[in-house]
Amino acid sequence: MSAAETIHVDGVWRAAASGAQREVLDPADAKTLAVVSEGGVEDTDAAVAAARRAFDQGPWPRTPVAERAALLRRVAELLQRDRETIALTESRDTGKTLEEGRVDVDDVTNAFRYFADLAAGESAGRVIDAGSPDVHSVVVHEPVGVCAMITPWNYPLLQASWKVAPALVAGNTFVIKPSEVTPLSTVHLVKLLVEAGLPAGAANLVTGAGDPVGARLAEHPDVDLVSFTGGLVSGTKVAQAAAPTVKKVALELGGKNPNVVFADACATAEGFDTAVDQALNAAFIHSGQVCSAGARLIIEESVRERFVAELARRAEKIKLGRGTEDGVECGPLVSAQQLDKTEAYVASALAEGALLRCGGKQPEPSEVRPATGYFYLPTVLDQCHRQMRVVREETFGPILTVESFQTEEEAVTLANDTEYGLAGAVWSADTARARRVAARLRHGTVWINDYHPYLPQAEWGGFGKSGVGRELGPAGLDEYRETKHVYENLRPSPVRWFAG
Ligand code: NAD
Repeated sequence: MSAAETIHVDGVWRAAASGAQREVLDPADAKTLAVVSEGGVEDTDAAVAAARRAFDQGPWPRTPVAERAALLRRVAELLQRDRETIALTESRDTGKTLEEGRVDVDDVTNAFRYFADLAAGESAGRVIDAGSPDVHSVVVHEPVGVCAMITPWNYPLLQASWKVAPALVAGNTFVIKPSEVTPLSTVHLVKLLVEAGLPAGAANLVTGAGDPVGARLAEHPDVDLVSFTGGLVSGTKVAQAAAPTVKKVALELGGKNPNVVFADACATAEGFDTAVDQALNAAFIHSGQVCSAGARLIIEESVRERFVAELARRAEKIKLGRGTEDGVECGPLVSAQQLDKTEAYVASALAEGALLRCGGKQPEPSEVRPATGYFYLPTVLDQCHRQMRVVREETFGPILTVESFQTEEEAVTLANDTEYGLAGAVWSADTARARRVAARLRHGTVWINDYHPYLPQAEWGGFGKSGVGRELGPAGLDEYRETKHVYENLRPSPVRWFAG
């Protein structure tokens, strides 16, 4: 396999049918990191045909679930064997720090182990009491078929694993299309699936652009399910393209996530420090390029000034640089496009009356921050309100907006005033209040006195325009299964509904 043969179809690594290639850039200096195949419709159709054959005639869907689970566990071991290499790849490709890359590999490993245990621990079917000893009625699960997976650039391997692990353990075959911006770790994952012994055709990979590769997957008549993680605009296009063939559609889209802080959470020095520290982490980890980023600080007015001053003081100290350098806390944004978008959001916020508390520009270059890299300073915008674009839209950059409230009712109204509904947090020393507010938040994940942790055992996904369906947890496995009721009459006899 040459470096540019990154398309995997029916067990064979190959270049694009057209011969086209794409340069993958290192966002820390905008230099070429790798060259990959630029797949097109022909490659996509070949990959779907291979997945179709493997599903209809190949061994994988008919492999006992215990063996499928064992393969997932082997993949988990291989991921840990290659932990450093994959973490480095992910760090260079996305810009995130090496340590974040390591955490991602561990999370990916946990996802493979979780779905192996979940599927292997289930009973084969649910027997139904049909009310007659002459009837045997059972509900069983079967794989959906050929799954298409389209993934984003911020957590390339993690988002892939939330689809690949449940799809495989359920007995599906698939075609995956990683983001064209960060395809490298997905290429590595498919190599590990092959090494673990997955039969040819069960896992296929096409590197290439959203349109045509993702678009073709979404509309393809031989694809039974499309699972998409990415932005609202592309997700809407995927749903539209999928509609005429009535395939199953799962969408994990963006968020505009509220981090609600009550003054009582800041009453002690320790409480104040914790809430500020976590607000910083919520907004700026991975330079804010996180679907669940706590990009909207919604804070009780009485504590706003003290809180925001401390937040801005600490945000200014965040060490920016190439993610692989020691001591660096935040890497660059992933692309020039993402940098332009961030600059435009800050400009629009300032034009609409926001107050810049820190950041708001690119940092000075340094030894660890090449001038050609896509760096942007962590930015805190105070005195924001719900009519501002920067408050309504997902910026997906290192921008934290600050809104304030006087009453609990107002806090809930603000937190729910978004077309998204992915995640949010509430900070309060009053347990009853924290739980009351959490119960009213229309978001798929709600943290109380914390931000960002997730568990593979717990479903992840969004209310509103944050998506359709759930990943992780039992529902994350069910996405990849059909449910079938088998009703068996052990003593058939005529019904005599019709007399003649
Ligand atoms: P994006 O929508 O630009 O791209 C995502 C994927 O879709 C890429 O592989 C892209 O090539 C493909 N694509 C683009 N146009 C397409 C089309 N017309 N048809 C089919 N596929 C197409 O998103 P991005 O910029 O890569 O990722 C950032 C977005 O992902 C953010 O909105 C973020 O919130 C979201 N995200 C959500 C979750 C979640 O769990 N809900 C997790 C991570 C990222």
